Amino acid sequence: MGNNTADMQERPAPFFDGGNPGSLLRLFSLLSVLSVVIILLLVGYGVYRIYSHEMIREAEQAAVAVGEAIFAQEHRVLLADDAGDSMRIQVARENFAGLDERMRNYLRPFHIFKIKVFSRDGAIAYSTDHTIIGQVDSGNAKLERVLRSGEVISNLESKDEVRDLAGEQRFDADVVETYLPIRAAGRIVGSFEVYVDVTPTRARIFNALVLSAAVLFSVLVAVFASLYVLMRKGALELKTAQDELRKLASTDVLTGLFNRRYVMTRASEEYSRVRRERSRRENSGNISNISFIMADLDHFKRINDSHGHLVGDEILRAVSARLRSVARNYDIIGRYGGEEFLIVLPNSDLKDAKLAAERMRREVESAPVNVGANAFKVTVSLGVACSVPGDADEFAAIARADQALYKAKAEGRNRMAWI
Ligand code: GH3
Ligand code: MG
Ligand code: MG
Repeated sequence: MGNNTADMQERPAPFFDGGNPGSLLRLFSLLSVLSVVIILLLVGYGVYRIYSHEMIREAEQAAVAVGEAIFAQEHRVLLADDAGDSMRIQVARENFAGLDERMRNYLRPFHIFKIKVFSRDGAIAYSTDHTIIGQVDSGNAKLERVLRSGEVISNLESKDEVRDLAGEQRFDADVVETYLPIRAAGRIVGSFEVYVDVTPTRARIFNALVLSAAVLFSVLVAVFASLYVLMRKGALELKTAQDELRKLASTDVLTGLFNRRYVMTRASEEYSRVRRERSRRENSGNISNISFIMADLDHFKRINDSHGHLVGDEILRAVSARLRSVARNYDIIGRYGGEEFLIVLPNSDLKDAKLAAERMRREVESAPVNVGANAFKVTVSLGVACSVPGDADEFAAIARADQALYKAKAEGRNRMAWI
């Protein structure tokens, strides 16, 4: 018996087992958590995209409106007549100070960090950032596109550090940069690049997003928690019903002992275990064993014939209880046939099984069974056999127990015999 625990080692339960309500519940919990995470991510991303797109569009509209208004006011200062009829963006030195002051006044109310005015050849003719005036922004694909096609291009940029109109440094700013064309006499003569500060808008969007996510999260948790509670209730009921069914399927209704099918299944399992153990410790001398007892009531037909089947049933029940009461709790007692019982005794050799059988015989005989006003003297005969290494299967030993039972009957009943 010392090695029993090693043999009975259970495999870890699989995470999902379709027939097990508890496992279904675990799967539901996992899927719920996954669903909440996926829904939050998808909705969060979607909402962010929508708001973000809207924010860029609004900043772009502001940039276009401001750019056009500035040009309407300042085109005389910003344009220089070339020789011939073409126009060019150029700011005369004497106009610069006035233009710069007016520009800052235009831009101040509109959360604009900076503006650049490009001439047709990509040179910066004017900027609120004086250090870059005169530079040529060559290789700027967006600028080239605006100058070529006249479209308006905007994009959102996160800047670690920028300088605002007043020359103050700002950190972690969100800026929408918009390029828009400058047209004169029907031709594109240059481009504005306008930097609109959207940091506060973006912070508001972020706060709204966090708030919506929190609300959505609460709703989802409430929904899934309610579902979980309902499912748990259902799963528990199912589990109870399953246990009940399992019990019914293995129980003999009349006696409450195991039924024949179950006791045979267990006999087969226990026998296989003994075989495994035997092959594992062939040389150790400590042979593991399994024994069987076949029991049959003596002259039971007489009781049935004289007192009827119902009385017979009562006696069967009483005898079953007596057999059970003296068995070890890991012995498996089943009703094998009408008034025959099979007892499987794991870890028992012939000597142990004979002792057990004799205990059972004495217990049944010990006192009459009372049914109504009648007291019946009931006895039982038992056949005992132990499995031996030469057996092909558990049936070999069970057949010997059956033969031993016949022997006990033949030798006079109310006794135990063995083979
Ligand atoms: P023996 O000592 O040789 O065993 O004699 P017996 O009369 O007991 O003979 P046997 O074992 O063949 O008994 C079978 C009888 O058991 C037949 C039937 O009347 C009775 N029996 C079988 N199943 C039931 C049952 O479920 N209820 C009742 N009341 N009687 C049963
Ligand atoms: Mg009998
Ligand atoms: Mg019988």
